[in-house]
Amino acid sequence: MTETIKYTPEQEEKLINDAYQNLLNGYLNSNHRKKVEIIDKAFRFACEAHKGIRRRSGEPYILHPIAVATIVSQEIGLGSTSICSALLHDVVEDTEYTVEDIEAQFGKKIATIVDGLTKISGGIFGSKASAQAENFRKLLLTMSDDIRVVLIKMADRLHNMRTLASMPPAKQYKIAGETLYIYAPLAHRLGLFAIKTELEDLSFKYEHPDTYKKIGEQIATSEARRNEIFDHFAAPIRKRLDEMGLQYEFKARVKSHYSIWKKMESKHVPFEEVYDLYAARIVFECPKEQDEKRICWNIYSEITDLYRLHPDRIRDWISTPKANGYRALHITVMGPDGNWIEVQIRSRRMDDIAERGFAAHWKYKIGEGEEESELAVWLQTIEDILKNPEPNAIDFLDTIKLNLFASEITVFTPKGEMITLPKDASVLDLAFNLHSQIGSHCIAGKVNHRLVPLSHKLATGDQVEVLTSQSQKPQPEWEQYLVTAKGKTRLRSAIRHDRRQVIEKGDKMLREFLAANGQEIVPETLTRIISIEKAPNKEALFYMIGNNEIALSQQMIKALKPASNGGILAKFLRNPFATKATPDDGIVKFEGKIDASKVYHLSSAQGHQNYKLAPCCHPIPGDDVVGYVDDNNEVVVHKMDCPELGRLKISYGSRLLQTQWDASQATFLAVVHIEGRDRMGILHEIINLISRNLAINIRRLDIKADSGVFTCELDVLISDVSVVNNLCKKLKKVDGVTSAARIS
Ligand code: MN
Repeated sequence: MTETIKYTPEQEEKLINDAYQNLLNGYLNSNHRKKVEIIDKAFRFACEAHKGIRRRSGEPYILHPIAVATIVSQEIGLGSTSICSALLHDVVEDTEYTVEDIEAQFGKKIATIVDGLTKISGGIFGSKASAQAENFRKLLLTMSDDIRVVLIKMADRLHNMRTLASMPPAKQYKIAGETLYIYAPLAHRLGLFAIKTELEDLSFKYEHPDTYKKIGEQIATSEARRNEIFDHFAAPIRKRLDEMGLQYEFKARVKSHYSIWKKMESKHVPFEEVYDLYAARIVFECPKEQDEKRICWNIYSEITDLYRLHPDRIRDWISTPKANGYRALHITVMGPDGNWIEVQIRSRRMDDIAERGFAAHWKYKIGEGEEESELAVWLQTIEDILKNPEPNAIDFLDTIKLNLFASEITVFTPKGEMITLPKDASVLDLAFNLHSQIGSHCIAGKVNHRLVPLSHKLATGDQVEVLTSQSQKPQPEWEQYLVTAKGKTRLRSAIRHDRRQVIEKGDKMLREFLAANGQEIVPETLTRIISIEKAPNKEALFYMIGNNEIALSQQMIKALKPASNGGILAKFLRNPFATKATPDDGIVKFEGKIDASKVYHLSSAQGHQNYKLAPCCHPIPGDDVVGYVDDNNEVVVHKMDCPELGRLKISYGSRLLQTQWDASQATFLAVVHIEGRDRMGILHEIINLISRNLAINIRRLDIKADSGVFTCELDVLISDVSVVNNLCKKLKKVDGVTSAARIS
C-alpha cells in the first residue's frame, strides 16, 4: 500500500502550477487555435471547486483533472473545448456546482460534455448488474451525441489506471477488470492504439503482478542482445535514408508486456519464441501528403536492396487501409544476423493516426471522408443495438463487447494474396472460398506456420495455408465449421457428387478385403459387419469404408468370429480409468466481513476445505486466483483470467477476496489439451506416457482423430500445477505432437 504523502501549502501550489504550465505548454505547441483564456478560466474554476479535497494518495485533487486534460490534449490531440471539459469533468459530480453553473460560465457545448461525463462516472458500473448495463447504455448514447465524451472518459480512465497503486487490491482487480473488458476494446475500436496498449499493460500489471514482473525481467535481460542485432541491422539502412535526404525516426519496436503474455498464453509458447520476433519502425517526415506513398515504396526499395525480402510478408496497408483507418507499409526482411525483422514504414501523419486514432486525423483534416464514415457506421451499429430491446441487461453488455470488434477479418495466402472473410470463418471456409476442390480435399491448415485442424477459426492477419490430400472426402459434419454461405453451398454440392462414388468404392473395397481373407460374402456377413461397426445401413457402411472411416483390418475379421474377446486396446477403452472424486462437500463457510486488504488463506487441511473451485476455469494450486464470496457464503476460487470472474468483478467487485494457497493440498482437476499429426501409433504412445510414466489419476480421456489431425482432451487429478506442466513438457517430445497444454 502506498504511503499517504504530505505536502506543505507552498509545495502544493508549485505542484499544481507546474502541472498546469505543462498542460498549457503542450497546448500552445499544438496546431489548435490558441484559446488560452477559456482554459485558464476553467482551471481557476476547477481549482476553486475542488479546493481542500485530496485524492487517496494524499495529492491535491485538482492534479487529477489537470492530468486528464493533459492526456486529452497531448496524447489524444483534442482542443480547448475538450481541455476545458476535462478540467471540469469531476466538478458537477463531486462538488456543489451544477451543470447550469457550468453552462453559465462556459457555454452550452462544454456543459453538455461535462453533463455526459457526470452521467457515466462513478465508474461505469454501479453495485447492481442491471445498473451497470444501464450506465453503459447511457455512455454510448451520450457518445453518439459527442464523441469527445468518450475520449475524455478514456483519458480519465487512463489516469486512474496510472495511479491505481494507491487503491486497495480488491478495488484494483475490479477497476483493472473493467478496463480490460470495456475500455481497452473501445480504445482499440476508436484507433487509440497507444492508449489501448497502455490500458492493457496496466490492467495486466495489477491482475498478474508476478507474471508482469517476470516478463519485465526477461525483457531487460534480453535487451542488450536485441539492441546489438538492431543496430547491426539499422546502420546500412540509415545510411541509405540519409542519402535520400529524409528526415526520419528509426526505432526498434518493443512489444508490450501484455501482448507478449497474451501470445505466450494463446499459442502456448515460451517467452523466447514470442520475443524473438524482431520489429522496427521508420517514421519519416513528409510535408506533402501526395508524396507519402511514393516515399514508402522508395524506402522499401532501398531496404530490399540491402536485405532479402520475405515474399509472403508484405502488408500494404497504404493501398488498402485497415478498418480503423490504419495505414502503413509492413515488410519482413532477413537481417545480417539471420533473423527475420519486420519493418513498418509510415509517414508522420500515418504514425499519428495509428497511435492516436480518429482524433489525430482531425488535426490533418485531409481525407476525412473515409474515417468519418467508418466511425458513423460504428455509431449506427451501437444505436441499432440500443434500440433493440434486450431482455437481459448483462447480455446487452456482451453484445456490445462483441460488436466493438470488426465483423470482418482479412487473412493471407502463402503467396500474400489478401482474402476477406466474415468473422469466425474457419480454415475450411477459406478452403471452400478458394475452390470447391480445395475445400473438398482439405485435411488441415497451417496458420502462421502452425498446424491446425480444419475447424480452426481464423483471425485478421493470419497467414493461412490449406493442406489437402487426394484421399480426403467432404464430410457432412463439416457444415458446423462453416460460416460462409459460399462454403456451405459448395460443401453440400460436393457431398452430393461424392457420396455415390464413395459408396461404390467402399462396396468394392469390402468385397475384395473379405475375399482376400477367405470370408464368404453372404448377406449374414454383411449384417454382422453392419452391427459391429454400428452403421445404420448397408449404404452407410460402404460409404464409411470408402471414406476410410472404418479400417479394414484383421480386427474386423476377428470380430466376425464369435469367440473373439477383442484386442487389448478395446479392453483398455472399455475399462475406464479409476476415478476419485474431489471432496466437494462440507465446505467451511466464509465468516465475518470481506476485507479487501486482508489475504484469505485457501486451505483444505484435514478435510476442512474453506473454498470451492470454480467449475468454469478449473483453477489448481499455484494458479493466480481470486476468491469470490457467493450467496451461500462459500468462497469460490476463479483463475485471474477467467471470463466469468471478469463478469463477477464488474457486478460484485465488493465480494472479491485476495487469496493465497496453503501448502498442503488435496487433488485437483486439470484439463490438458493435446494436438498433433495423426500418425500410426501416436495415440498409443501418448496414452502410455500418461498412464505409465507419470503417477497421474486420469478421469476422462477424449480423443478425436480426423483428417490427419488429432486432438486429445484429458481430465487429470493432480496435486500441484508443476505436475501438469511436467506432463505437457513430456508430451511435446512425442514425435508428431504439436502442442500440449493445460486449458480452462
Ligand atoms: Mn475523474
